[in-house]
Amino acid sequence: MLSGRFTRSAAQAAEPYRLQQASIEFRHVSKIWGQNQVLRDINLTISPGEVVTILGPSGSGKSTLIRLINQLETLSQGEILIDNHPTRHLRGRALRQLRSRIGFVFQQFNLYAHLSALQNITLALRSVHQQSEADASARARALLARVGLAEKADHYPAQLSGGQQQRVAIARALASEPQIILFDEPTSALDPETIGEVLLVMKQLAHSGITMVVVTHEMQFAREIADRVVFIDGGEILESSPPEAFFTRPQHPRAQRFLHKVL
Ligand code: ADP
Ligand code: MG
Repeated sequence: MLSGRFTRSAAQAAEPYRLQQASIEFRHVSKIWGQNQVLRDINLTISPGEVVTILGPSGSGKSTLIRLINQLETLSQGEILIDNHPTRHLRGRALRQLRSRIGFVFQQFNLYAHLSALQNITLALRSVHQQSEADASARARALLARVGLAEKADHYPAQLSGGQQQRVAIARALASEPQIILFDEPTSALDPETIGEVLLVMKQLAHSGITMVVVTHEMQFAREIADRVVFIDGGEILESSPPEAFFTRPQHPRAQRFLHKVL
């Protein structure tokens, strides 16, 4: 469990944008790159605390879908509401504030190679959240312990296995106590023997209150942790159902074909 909430400074408390809950709502969202319509008319509501896995073939628009949530990409049409607040117009400080409420875990970890595990985590706490070095360091150590890496605080990424690096990345994503955490194929770049340890950390995180959206090809994992499976193909949501229903009785022919291939 995350220990203690941040003490927020008066300046932070006065921020214009504050999340109270962590629902995510896509309203008629489209994304077009040149001639390529990558997402079409996406409508999707994710409840606070819900765990949703996004499944679909390569190139179907999964990464684009979740990258739009914290505006790593800009949408072409529609609106995304976080906690019922429109986000499309946010810029500058308000956008940074929104992003600090959303953790993102990438396939390739994206750790800073020249910083230790601890420093990768304290960096954001020191710069974005302006914590003292002692506070940031204590918090980073608690997060490393949470992902089972208390002993590795002073190791550099190159000294860690892929699974360990990804666990550091998860700890870093949790540092600002986000209400939402997004995972884009977090185990796809890992050696098979280290996938399990990352999935375990994610399982422990699921249903701890945080809203979790996971793009994954780990079908068994999706089946175990998801409240809901969203199947996307050709930039459209073709199915959105509880995992049992999706894996045992997929409705859409393309979902049936997909499962036939991957299971
Ligand atoms: P997935 O994550 O399901 O594999 P993506 O969201 O990465 O799919 O990509 C969906 C489509 O968008 C693909 O056709 C891909 O080529 C295209 N695409 C992704 N990123 C870009 C980009 N930066 N510029 C142009 N096209 C892109
Ligand atoms: Mg992708």
